[in-house]
Amino acid sequence: MISREELKNIAKMKGEGAYFVSVYLNVNPMTTVKDNYVIHAKNMLRETTETLDKTVLKKVKGDIDKIESYIITNKRVFKKGLALLSSQERKFWREYHVAVPFKNEIIVDTTPYVKPLLDVLDNYQRSAILLVDRESARLFLVYLGEIEEYAEVHSEDVPGRHKKGGWFSLAEKSYERHIDYHVGLHLKDVMRELEAFLSGEYVGRLIIGGSEEAVTKVKAMLPQGIADKVIGTFQAEMFANTKEIMKKVEPLLQAYEKKKETEDIDELLTKAMKNENAVVGIENVMNALQEGRVMKLIVLKDLAQAGISCTQCGYLSIQNVPSCPFCGGAIQREKHLVDLVAQRAVEQGAFVEVASENGTFREAGGIGAFLRF
Ligand SMILES: [Zn+2]
Repeated sequence: MISREELKNIAKMKGEGAYFVSVYLNVNPMTTVKDNYVIHAKNMLRETTETLDKTVLKKVKGDIDKIESYIITNKRVFKKGLALLSSQERKFWREYHVAVPFKNEIIVDTTPYVKPLLDVLDNYQRSAILLVDRESARLFLVYLGEIEEYAEVHSEDVPGRHKKGGWFSLAEKSYERHIDYHVGLHLKDVMRELEAFLSGEYVGRLIIGGSEEAVTKVKAMLPQGIADKVIGTFQAEMFANTKEIMKKVEPLLQAYEKKKETEDIDELLTKAMKNENAVVGIENVMNALQEGRVMKLIVLKDLAQAGISCTQCGYLSIQNVPSCPFCGGAIQREKHLVDLVAQRAVEQGAFVEVASENGTFREAGGIGAFLRF
């Protein structure tokens, strides 16, 4: 998992005479047909080798070879985006597999290039999971489909840990108050930890799990700023492992994503109708791409469309024209036009959101884009 802290530290690294090679690749199986990113990567690396200053090339030749063989031999572990940062002189190597595609890029410089990774951090929401009971709490971070345990809070001095029953089922009134007091202190500790975590790690959403009583009590204690981030709750045992927790929170995250997705599509359709920096329909989207205006592309998951591409300027169309209307170049038939559109959007630095079924959107063409201008 990528952490902002780690990226900041990497960004501060200086070559001190050494060079870094940073490679970003779109390895999304949806937008790259038949592993052709391997060919892309090889071409990019060859071009770099040919254009680099000879003294620099001498320093990074080992990095380039290592990167190339890594890409060829590690396809199994790829997700959608691959980032490799390498400096053999500095004995430095990092690989990041992320669930969003990158624009293909290779940068050779005296510092590692981390901006695309930072952009991912900024634009893809992270979710915190708080698992809590009367004497302990566990914090997790879920990001791009991965879960990581982040912290544990134990308040050892909470009495009555061996008593059976829930928080409020203890018989003796004064003893109950005594426990409530300690549980209250524990939950205050948890709140402090949670607040620091949410602000430090730029987490936009929170899911709370535990016993029903614990969840209710914690929810009631949340300050407004944190309460606004809660997107769901679930019941789980304190000793649940990350896999079990993931199973509980995934449906909550999916429901939330689905809701956001529907809102995005509604906004897209409304803006397109009003002509406010948005278009729908594949022809309109392709025109906007040609003009470099696409900021965010939304496309239905299984949308299929055949068409043509210009072998010279890359013009895309669903019309079967004999030659390119822009440059007169030769035309090539394309079976997977939508994939090409998505690929082109990524290359322009736009975000691509693949949406699940939506009847209204399908009627409007199943593809649309928010525009930069
Ligand atoms: Zn053309």
